[in-house]
Amino acid sequence: MRDRRKWIVRTEKRNHVSLIINPLLRPHLTTLAATVTAPLITRFAPSPTGYLHLGHVVNAIYVWGIARALNGRVLLRVEDHDRIRCRPEYEAALLEDLAWLGFEPDFGLEPLLRQSDTPFVYEQALEGLRATAHVYACECSRKDIGGERYDGRCRGRGLKVATGRGIRVQLGNDMEKFEDALLGRLFQLPAEQCGDLLVRDRDGHWTYQFAVTVDDLRQNVTLVIRGADLVSSTGRQIFLARMLGRRNAPVFLHHPLIHDDLGEKLSKSAGDTGVRELRSRGLSAPEVIGIAAARVGLVDPGMPIHASEVSRLFEQRVLPGP
Ligand SMILES: [Zn+2]
Repeated sequence: MRDRRKWIVRTEKRNHVSLIINPLLRPHLTTLAATVTAPLITRFAPSPTGYLHLGHVVNAIYVWGIARALNGRVLLRVEDHDRIRCRPEYEAALLEDLAWLGFEPDFGLEPLLRQSDTPFVYEQALEGLRATAHVYACECSRKDIGGERYDGRCRGRGLKVATGRGIRVQLGNDMEKFEDALLGRLFQLPAEQCGDLLVRDRDGHWTYQFAVTVDDLRQNVTLVIRGADLVSSTGRQIFLARMLGRRNAPVFLHHPLIHDDLGEKLSKSAGDTGVRELRSRGLSAPEVIGIAAARVGLVDPGMPIHASEVSRLFEQRVLPGP
């Protein structure tokens, strides 16, 4: 995949073209527009568990770039369902960095859309789920489960919901089939991948899977644009959304990730890839956006890009080179 990308970049240079359609990096916009149920609403949904880094900037480029290219809207959502790891200073920092970069959400900023402000929304959704699915208490720890997949051992025990117990929902055995806007057709079997989904953990926190699925439904998010590390969550979220009463699943687009020198996904303790660090070294916002775009191969290195211009990276026309 990487080799093919390089080959395309070389071809571009020989033809004196700075941008060209690359199906591995850019969605086919006409197809995407036809697939998404109107209105097109996507979201930028960081967790305040650390500072923004180049990985977030890549996500912002895709979110704002595609939304603007298709006249869609961008929702900002602070995903602070994890009450242990989230911190107010990280939230303040990410809002400040996002504004500095120049990415302006269409809604969700004032007032700020924050998961922790609306616990009743998740309570209500859980009640709704009880009517359509088998919801049960589970007392297993991570250690008891010992892996990614939960085997359903508490499913028939009839445990009462209580402090120190999690809540799960039973998933059916159906195969989920969906079209990723970049990766194409995918098949996933959530019952085999993860087993019955944890909705609320043993500490009483709503889980990522549940909170984002509820939010994407109630906020009418019709296009989910996120990093490829989350692709395995998609089938289970479509499944859960259907159980919550969603008729049309959102369209998903999973974009490439930036990796560090060791080949790992960028972490929260980002070092020289943190937006704050790059700012403190005197880089401008367009330079930081350009670095992020180049790191995934959207542009050649050394090309500053203003936040208001990122849609040009996705528009399906070939732009002349300098
Ligand atoms: Zn259990």
